[in-house]
Amino acid sequence: MKICNSCILTENFPGISFDDKGVCNFCRSYKPENVSLEAKKQYEDRFVALTAEHCNPSGYDVLMAYSGGKDSTYTLDLFVNYFRLKVLALTFDNTFISERSFVNMNNVTESLGVDHLIIRPNPVTLRKIFMVAAEKELYSPKAMERASTICTSCIGLVKAVTLRTALEKRIPFVGFGWSPGQAPLQASVMRTNPSMVRMTQKAIQEPLCSVAGQNALSQYFVDEEQFADPQRFPWNIHPLAFLEYDEDKIVARNRELGWEKPQDTDANSTNCMLNAYANQVHMNRYGFHPYAWEIANMVRSGVMAREKGLEKFVCGENPDLVKYAKEILEGR
Ligand SMILES: [Zn+2]
Repeated sequence: MKICNSCILTENFPGISFDDKGVCNFCRSYKPENVSLEAKKQYEDRFVALTAEHCNPSGYDVLMAYSGGKDSTYTLDLFVNYFRLKVLALTFDNTFISERSFVNMNNVTESLGVDHLIIRPNPVTLRKIFMVAAEKELYSPKAMERASTICTSCIGLVKAVTLRTALEKRIPFVGFGWSPGQAPLQASVMRTNPSMVRMTQKAIQEPLCSVAGQNALSQYFVDEEQFADPQRFPWNIHPLAFLEYDEDKIVARNRELGWEKPQDTDANSTNCMLNAYANQVHMNRYGFHPYAWEIANMVRSGVMAREKGLEKFVCGENPDLVKYAKEILEGR
């Protein structure tokens, strides 16, 4: 299979073409000046200025979408120790979280001294959603370029539950641990608003409700009463876009907080035991790896070496992990 000589995208990636040096069109149109140190500093300064203005002394400053994985653990530490904010960590338990990941979350929240809220939705509903997502595409062609259908479903619920919780608790900032490959710098300090949320929510809520039933998921999404109060809508912040991102340093810092890499997850996840199956389904369906886009972005911007990027998916998924999730979803 042909692979770009500069990033790691393969010839099966939608819309890809190669020049005579074997470099893809996405690498050729990449603009490094968009992620310069000066540009990053502006976003950091903006966030710091906003916290001075909007943090509420009687509540939490940040609601952190805390998966227990490597990046969200490190981001949680940044909010607490670098930005010195009062954080509530929120974990969405998709029922496939690795046991070690729960140990990690307990160790880290204790080391950092933060409150931790875990929401574990009805497993029957969740598995129904994951089963259908494994059988057919539920979202737009653009979505499938960025992640597997199972992952998009799960993350869609995570974002919905997190936003709804921030609105209910009147928390001004919502923190995410998106890596620089997952989300652009330009969106790293961005206020949410009702019209934007209506649009993004619809794209997830409608397909999911068609699977789970109209009222099965309404408690996770923003409701009309909340939409009517735009002042309450929080800023989404993903600081890994504007601060240094170095996987080795991240793992080293996490270890100091009692975090260890789980041994029972795939190469692209440090908390989820459903991911290997989700990746395999996507590979079978589309012929390219669902993490290719994200890893290619990191290789292109220099935060990950190309060799390390290739390692993340060239060896294929662990068949035991794929089987584990498949059997649970099929009720065996
Ligand atoms: Zn490329």
